[in-house]
Amino acid sequence: MEKIPFNKPYLTGKETQYIQDAVNCGKISGNGKYTQMCHRFFEEHYGFGKCLLTTSCTDALEMAALLLDIQPGDEVILPSYTFVSTANAFILRGAKLVFADSRPDHPGIEESQLKALINSRTKAIIVVHYAGVACDMEKVMALANEFGLYVVEDAAQAIDSFYTFSSGKKAALGSIGHLAAFSFHETKNIISGEGGMLVVNDPRFVQRAEIIWEKGTNRAAFFRGEVDKYGWIDVGSSFLPSEIVAAFLFAQLEHLTCIQEKRKKIWIQYFEGLRSVEGEGIRLPSIPHYATNNAHMFYMVAQSGLQRQKIIEALGAKGFHAVFHYLSLHRSPYYAPKHDGRNLPNTDFYTDCLIRLPLFYELDAISIDRMIPIIRASAQMGLAAF
Ligand SMILES: *Cc1c(COP(=O)(O)O)cnc(C)c1O
Repeated sequence: MEKIPFNKPYLTGKETQYIQDAVNCGKISGNGKYTQMCHRFFEEHYGFGKCLLTTSCTDALEMAALLLDIQPGDEVILPSYTFVSTANAFILRGAKLVFADSRPDHPGIEESQLKALINSRTKAIIVVHYAGVACDMEKVMALANEFGLYVVEDAAQAIDSFYTFSSGKKAALGSIGHLAAFSFHETKNIISGEGGMLVVNDPRFVQRAEIIWEKGTNRAAFFRGEVDKYGWIDVGSSFLPSEIVAAFLFAQLEHLTCIQEKRKKIWIQYFEGLRSVEGEGIRLPSIPHYATNNAHMFYMVAQSGLQRQKIIEALGAKGFHAVFHYLSLHRSPYYAPKHDGRNLPNTDFYTDCLIRLPLFYELDAISIDRMIPIIRASAQMGLAAF
């Protein structure tokens, strides 16, 4: 039986050629030719502020927490339905996490609940564009401006996705918050094995971002000839990836349009094919009018944990690897004792009921056609058992 994995990294074919070129150039440490080509690509295509490649999105989020100068006692508002790195970056600086619930119609943060969570110790709001679908950034930015807070976009899943303001202005996700973090982990749309990027949209942070990136030194300015010696001038760490990683990433960026087209085709085939399953208590993803779909993920929401289990098992029995996703961070072994006790029912609901289906460049239409009736039959079984 042919096994269909949940994810399979896609190679464009140029990756090893560009890595060979980087090696031949004699500079394989960070911030060389390929790193700068990647930075330029993002700045030109998406209207991002200063871009800095990192070794992961986790690193980019940790840089964000350093840049915002998060101190013990500061409060940070973030969704509970997210990856641990969104939270860890701020925990490492001693912040208190204030978890917000997800929306009823989407796993993204419930914007209407944010105001009630803000107090004099609140420093930042971290939004996660789940499945590459935008949070309502106009609302979030208005609130941040009103209370003098910073906004960090965890745009790990959000490459090539957009938000439309009520004025009609369209902006790339990652270009709206003061800071944003992307991931190029092999499970994302555009990959470099491990990899990430910090986007600095607020010019006040640009100079310091580059220093933190280069171990707290002004090395980058030195190599541009702006200072005649470099030294230790701030805190920092080694956040920049080698040229080998950047060369791999650049090969992927050259194929971004065709990767995105293919992923969207797959997503639409799932969506059209699964319309008939909505009657079995399965919810398909909804894209708000202000958001676009970058086909990072195809997820469905079952009516119960049991129904989800039936679907995952039925697909698994036929060789299709479907998976659930995040476990509520406010109920995690590490954070539950520190959580303020508020119930976050939508977060718990997605924890129990959300299913992700295989989605990768080489997934063929026939496999998708085979999954649809399996999902329909097992959803009915799950309903009956419920
Ligand atoms: C993938 C992901 C991360 C972590 O990315 P890494 O590059 O693996 O560090 C963080 N946040 C979200 C929402 C993610 O999906």
